[in-house]
Amino acid sequence: MIYNAHFEMATVVMLFILIIIYFWKKNLPIQSNRLYLNVLILLVVGTCFSALQCYYEYGNDKMSLSASYIISSLAFIIGIAFIGMYNSYVLSLFHYKNKISVYSVVSYGVILCGIILVLTNSFTNLYFYMDDSGKIHSGSARNIMNILYMFIIFLTLCIAWIKGKKKDTKLLKLILHVDILIALSELITNVCHLNTGFIMVVANLCAFLVYFSLRSPDYYIDIRTGRFNLNGFIEVLREKYDYNESVSCFLIRVKNYHAICRIYDEDSLQEVQKQIAEILKVKSGERNIYHIGAATFAIFVENTREVKKLYEKIVRVMPHQWNIKREALSHEYSYYYVTYPDDSSDIEDIIQRIHYARSDHEGHHKPNELIHLRKEALVDAVRFKEVAHRIEEAILDNSLELNFQPIYSFAENRITSLEVLSRLKDSKHKYINPEYFIHVAEVNHTIIQLSRQMFEKTCQFAVNNRIFERGITDMNINISPIQCQDKHLVDELKRIAAKYRIPLKRFHFEITESRLTDADAVFETLTKLRKCGAKIALDDFGTGYSNIASIMLMPIDFVKIDKSLLWSYASGDNEFLNELMPMIRSEGKKIIAEGIETEEHIEILRRMGGDFLQGYYYSKPLNEKDFIRFIDAHNKNKSENNKN
Ligand code: C2E
Ligand code: MG
Ligand code: MG
Repeated sequence: MIYNAHFEMATVVMLFILIIIYFWKKNLPIQSNRLYLNVLILLVVGTCFSALQCYYEYGNDKMSLSASYIISSLAFIIGIAFIGMYNSYVLSLFHYKNKISVYSVVSYGVILCGIILVLTNSFTNLYFYMDDSGKIHSGSARNIMNILYMFIIFLTLCIAWIKGKKKDTKLLKLILHVDILIALSELITNVCHLNTGFIMVVANLCAFLVYFSLRSPDYYIDIRTGRFNLNGFIEVLREKYDYNESVSCFLIRVKNYHAICRIYDEDSLQEVQKQIAEILKVKSGERNIYHIGAATFAIFVENTREVKKLYEKIVRVMPHQWNIKREALSHEYSYYYVTYPDDSSDIEDIIQRIHYARSDHEGHHKPNELIHLRKEALVDAVRFKEVAHRIEEAILDNSLELNFQPIYSFAENRITSLEVLSRLKDSKHKYINPEYFIHVAEVNHTIIQLSRQMFEKTCQFAVNNRIFERGITDMNINISPIQCQDKHLVDELKRIAAKYRIPLKRFHFEITESRLTDADAVFETLTKLRKCGAKIALDDFGTGYSNIASIMLMPIDFVKIDKSLLWSYASGDNEFLNELMPMIRSEGKKIIAEGIETEEHIEILRRMGGDFLQGYYYSKPLNEKDFIRFIDAHNKNKSENNKN
């Protein structure tokens, strides 16, 4: 007797360890975790009663006989409640909502029946009876009830099987094993006339088995901030969806975080992330904060009205300056929200919108604005993905198309050059805006392979059409600053040009200066290209980043005035060209003007001393065949004019 009680007390200690672990670890606020705790508590209480049962079982005075009877009754009730709680826990693992159904009527019916039988046992002796020595024996109804308990455990398993078949077969196997263990322990208890403590011990072992087989709570934690991570966020969201609970997700994102990351070390940024999480926690009234991306935090709130309230509170207090290592750093935030099911009844759609908000994207919104993640918000992201996919396809099936736009030389009074411009069609066979697909290729770094294809095709075009015999002296090729980060770029260009026996001096590489790229890598690549005989043009001059100072610093031969600058000058909106052109010329650079559409444009350039002209006045970019037709007609015209 004494041994048995000690054995059960040891079980209680083990269960306490699980309860301590439960509270020590941070658990996701989901149904299954709450029910797991309830299961543990019931097990502890049940095992304590079982120990008491041992103590009183052989009591021989009147007092201990009635105490033994009461304790046994309570132990039975807790055992029955445990079965109910365990079933709910299993279903919660598969997000099955226990709504009124045949299953719940049957299972609650059986449990209620069992409890009523125990409560009325003193009159009926149907569930159990006590012999004169105080030993407890099973009554006739208990065996039937045991079969019914097994039946509802089996029913629960079937539902879990149907719900979880697609989701988690590992979890299903685990539950199956636990159920078999519980059923066996029940059988052994009855056959060997053991007290309920035996089932409690087995259930305790099962609790450990489940704990160590399920995902550790650490899987849902971001170790940097100690908050729940994206896994945790998605898990909670999916549960809410499966339980059909409406919910709003409120997100806050630091706008220039990735730029900041390049400058500061991990520890400083970790500190900043912690501070943000702390402010959010306090302002949201101690809600759970989810750190779902380096720069993004999320909070669940009940509805859109609550989102707006929370936003008002937070936007006022979020600091716009961090002091990292005694340096003040300014930054902005973006705020987003999306509500299920109001914004979409499809959870994958909601998750996609959240991914969009937490990833780098070009926002057309003001800093600190609260952005509703509507379907349209994703249109950009969907288009981006589609174009990225088309680029990858073009790389694989060599399907990039090229257009050629003639360039006129003032000095020679004829077309002497051309610019190669890439063209790509989308899945609906419509041409994608080149500026856009080049941007996508730059972001994804597929520009390197795409440009290699473009350069090879340009060489083929030149050789196949004997372009240099048709009066073209050089070809302008656009290169992206991203390509300059590729250490093999120059060797690769040399190799391809050599394959077609075209000297590199036939190529003029056009580059657009950008604030975001590695200026040293660009400088190095351009210098190398020049050493190989190629010439360099600074493209899109006048659109933003490049200025006179950069012209002096960069290894360039030509400056290509952007069409917008020419057009605004022509329409009298500004007079920058008056100052710029002489400055560029004084630096010894030749000037190309693009966007020449009218004779007036030509006149402006002639007056200001431009060298080359490119624009629709001469021709739009043409495909291979049309360009050859164009250049042949142009040459014929010129020779006829010369004869006259
Ligand atoms: P860009 O290098 O500045 O090319 C000149 C753009 O101006 C071309 O646009 C051309 O069609 C357009 N253009 C030229 N003259 C006129 C004119 O008189 N009127 C008007 N309205 N437009 C004119 P496109 O072909 O749409 O290319 C846009 C940009 O895409 C290019 O600007 C270039 O930055 C980029 N791009 C195109 N192909 C490539 C490529 O193979 N590699 C790289 N890195 N960028 C490329
Ligand atoms: Mg260009
Ligand atoms: Mg340009």
